[in-house]
Amino acid sequence: MNKASPSPNPLPKGERVNSHTPMMAQYMAVKTAHPDCLLFYRMGDFYEMFFDDAVIASKILDLTLTKRGKTEGTDIPMCGVPFHAAENYIARLIRAGQRVAICDQTETPEEAKKRGGYKALVTREVTRVITAGTLIEDNLLDAKTNNYLAAVVDMNGQTGLAFADVSTGEFLVQTLPKSDIHSALQRMNPSEIICDENIELSDELNSRTTRTPQKNQSSEKIQSVFGLTEDNLLKQFSRAEIGAAGTLLAYIDETQKGQIPYLSAPKRIESFQTVEFDPSTFKSLELIKTQSGERQGSLIDLLDTCQTGAGSRLLQSRLISPLRDTTEIRHRHDEIETLIANFDVTKTIRATLKLVPDMERALARLSLNRGGPRDLAALRDGLHYAELIRAGLIEKGLMKTSLSTCANALHLTPAQSAFKDKLSSALAESLPLLARDGGFIATGFCPELDKVRGLKSETHRHIASLQATYTKMTGIDSLKITHNNILGFFIEVPARRADALMVKSGDNDNPFIHRQTMSTAVRFTTPDLSNLERDIALSADKAQAIEDNYFIQFRDNALSLADDISRVARGLAMVDVATSMATLAVDKTYTRPIVDDSTTFDIQGGRHPVVEQALAKAHKSFSPNHCNLSDKERLWLLTGPNMAGKSTFLRQNALITIMAQAGFYVPATSAHIGIVDKVFSRVGASDDLARGHSTFMIEMVETAAILNTATSKSLVILDEIGRGTATFDGLSIAWAVLEYLHNTIRCRGLFATHYHELTNLKSQMGSMACYTMDVKDWKGDIIFLHTVKSGTADKSYGIHVAKLAGIPNSVLARAEQVLELLEDNKQRGGAGAAVSLPLFSTPPSAPKPKTSPLQDKLRSINPDSLTPREALDILYELKSLL
Ligand code: ATP
Repeated sequence: MNKASPSPNPLPKGERVNSHTPMMAQYMAVKTAHPDCLLFYRMGDFYEMFFDDAVIASKILDLTLTKRGKTEGTDIPMCGVPFHAAENYIARLIRAGQRVAICDQTETPEEAKKRGGYKALVTREVTRVITAGTLIEDNLLDAKTNNYLAAVVDMNGQTGLAFADVSTGEFLVQTLPKSDIHSALQRMNPSEIICDENIELSDELNSRTTRTPQKNQSSEKIQSVFGLTEDNLLKQFSRAEIGAAGTLLAYIDETQKGQIPYLSAPKRIESFQTVEFDPSTFKSLELIKTQSGERQGSLIDLLDTCQTGAGSRLLQSRLISPLRDTTEIRHRHDEIETLIANFDVTKTIRATLKLVPDMERALARLSLNRGGPRDLAALRDGLHYAELIRAGLIEKGLMKTSLSTCANALHLTPAQSAFKDKLSSALAESLPLLARDGGFIATGFCPELDKVRGLKSETHRHIASLQATYTKMTGIDSLKITHNNILGFFIEVPARRADALMVKSGDNDNPFIHRQTMSTAVRFTTPDLSNLERDIALSADKAQAIEDNYFIQFRDNALSLADDISRVARGLAMVDVATSMATLAVDKTYTRPIVDDSTTFDIQGGRHPVVEQALAKAHKSFSPNHCNLSDKERLWLLTGPNMAGKSTFLRQNALITIMAQAGFYVPATSAHIGIVDKVFSRVGASDDLARGHSTFMIEMVETAAILNTATSKSLVILDEIGRGTATFDGLSIAWAVLEYLHNTIRCRGLFATHYHELTNLKSQMGSMACYTMDVKDWKGDIIFLHTVKSGTADKSYGIHVAKLAGIPNSVLARAEQVLELLEDNKQRGGAGAAVSLPLFSTPPSAPKPKTSPLQDKLRSINPDSLTPREALDILYELKSLL
């Protein structure tokens, strides 16, 4: 298996496993089996890395590169990280695109000794391979987003996709034509993709891809993981989907070393159920990240006011997959409406949700045997709050409203209630991270455990009394009994007083047995102290064994209830999304849209949610705009100056459509939208030089995708088509595209352009209407009103915008001169740019600043030669000139 990038980290050239110390030989053998990973090799309290791994990791982690011994005459580079802090280092390596194999000791030194004598090396094995797509630790994950692992397989011309979020148990499959892989992957944004060499992916996706040869996966694994019969599997899923699911499970199996996490039954993504976007639309609308790749400034960043990580994840998955099914969309709107009408309930629920832990992720960790007592507490609390929220809905009489779906999902089965109650009485108030740290079972829950713990504290009392006895017996006031990891418990006296205890040490009269002599103190033990120590150790072991047993019992109990726990977790996420959207709607005055199966598109007082927020921060207001793409005006041709707000208007209508079909309220005074099947938005220019595509080529590729796939139910938004080439070529392309959209596709659309010539097409296209952005020309300056009105722009005001941007005056003056000539030429019927361009006329020097009579008068005054009377007269004269 190779990662596309970075390159694997092989052993030094010509290295032979048997030319090393036993430990190095063991390291080499493990490393050879995991060439594409950085190997974290456990040694004592550290994970050590050697050779190239050490060089790479030390650079990424900023660690000191040291050396450990030599191999064939050269130093072995080494660096290490403390075992207890490894997670943070691993997180940084994963973020840097690395994979990490954790090689742990799988037996104790005692077991090793028993097996192979005192020289035997402790066995070490890779217990887990950590990759970007298989993370489960909270520290390594973003709570607000899913962490998908994707598999893509090609089977007899069909492409199968499978997505798993190992950290939440979600499992999805999909069959697609090959051409749609990019859209699907872009939408789900997996952090790791598994596919073979034959699947072509964009550079951006390729950097997250692990290439593995496509094997014919047997369906047995899928059947056993999901409890499906072969018949059921074949009935529900296509061959390509089964292939992708099998590839995904095999990869999880391999990285988790045989442990499969809890995964919910696979759900099929049906493309026809959700609104489709192509990759460029997804990017240009900045739904989940801005064009520069950040969440801040994207639509999700504004919408996400969820109180829980699971709520944020569900919100995002709804935003990227708006629905086409009006019943489900209306149901989501109904929920928001009910919560707005009962806003006091909404507020209470949101306050409770703040306390809800991430049950899905806790369950995932427990299922992979990497959970701890805090994960059990997360399940207990999650179930408790679910019950509380449900009880609140019942009490307020809301069970018969749209909220009943959520409320039903929050219902606890008797087994869940019993599990929650058991955990409530079993778990202590403060909990360790790991079960092996002990102390997580509450006092009073298990009499046997209490007894053993009592024994432990009693023995401590015994030690105190032994110390008192020995002090009295020896007359040494400074005698004390202490403990360290090497000697265990021991009696310590100052060196100068030790002689008396050495005499016939160990006999009946003198129970002190010498253990160690230090420069200032001497250490002893006694048979009584040794017995006590043994009792303490035994009771600690016993307490640990009892607690371990409980942990396993509770974990198994949780896993046997996993499907129901995950249903409740999803219910909480649904409530979180609905209450957040209701709160947002109230805070930002969003309204409920009407969504039906018509072809209506009537948005009144629409706003761009993100631009509106940015302007509000700068204490500016957003000008709302209407957009009614009725049958008579299905296609709007929008002209207007640069900077007038065309792109904002175009995008806001696409965003309102997506929000409405995702089941959210929208930033408008009213909106009526007939279901849209695909949204296409080509706004702004970008190039992809790495793939050899110029700005214009990209523009044409994206336009081709729209024209080839849009339907009469689609919403198409095109901004500035044809601007990246010569004027006439561009104009002709824009012209033909407009005709095609109007006459052939017959979709609803918005087309912004600076080619004012296109407005003439209105006479031939019955369903096209011309709109323009309103501006005011004030004393030679332009004021943008940001409002859309019927009509066409008389000019583009490009030079005004250039002036605003600070282009030097002489350049502006020359541009004015060229523009005048071009317009003059055009009016006289010239062919435009090619004729009579003032190419060789001298550009004017910067125009002399004009002066006013007031300035002239001021300049002529010599204040020193004026009498007071004359000065007063001049003052009057100046005033009149003003
Ligand atoms: P260009 O043709 O140069 O791309 P444009 O006409 O597409 O320009 P936009 O980029 O949409 O203009 O808008 C320019 C700026 O105007 C925005 O950044 C925003 O600050 C402001 N603006 C746009 N629409 C509105 C509006 N409706 N109300 C208030 N301000 C707006």
